[in-house]
Amino acid sequence: MKPGPTIIRKCSACGKHILEYTVGSGNTFGARFWTDGKRDAPMLPDQPWLVKCPHCSTLVWIDEQKQVVEIDPWWPVGGDADRFKDARSATEPTFTEYNAFLSAGVKTRKKERYVRLRTWWAGNDDRRKGGQIKPMTDAETANLRALLPLLKGKNRNDRLMKAEAFRELGMFEDAEALLSSRFEEGLMKAVEIIRSLNQSRSSTVAEMNFR
Ligand SMILES: [Zn+2]
Repeated sequence: MKPGPTIIRKCSACGKHILEYTVGSGNTFGARFWTDGKRDAPMLPDQPWLVKCPHCSTLVWIDEQKQVVEIDPWWPVGGDADRFKDARSATEPTFTEYNAFLSAGVKTRKKERYVRLRTWWAGNDDRRKGGQIKPMTDAETANLRALLPLLKGKNRNDRLMKAEAFRELGMFEDAEALLSSRFEEGLMKAVEIIRSLNQSRSSTVAEMNFR
């Protein structure tokens, strides 16, 4: 993995500095892929859009925080180091934090789609660890139902994601109707994996093994 520049931003809520690491180039070597669309790729770190400020814990859209400086990874910070001593990296919100953020209202469809998708993934994170699988909570189900209309039918990735959402909601007939429609070649493996889980009436997130 090749790091990109480090960006220092100013939190719009508390005025302190947030460090944003960017990725110059990466790859999906050693990555794990999940039926809900989440990808864990050690060589291509996730760069969340909505983050939790490390100082005041407010959830902020990273690209909307004022950029103070951009530091090239291969250049020393020099005289600037002291000015940004307080800079810390942000973290990704938890399921509960995402939910609270959603209940305060999200302004655009694009943002709501993002937050609901991330909320879904956060709820599934415990299930990715295996062991005793807990059914979805009411809060998870409500979020997933609210995500459905935000997934556009025309977009093929969204159609597959919608089918997966139906499957996890136990709406197997609706999932099958979508999964039996046409998908492009590159998605067929994923379609087959999800369809087979759907046909065996499994409603739990699963790892997708493409080999
Ligand atoms: Zn802050």
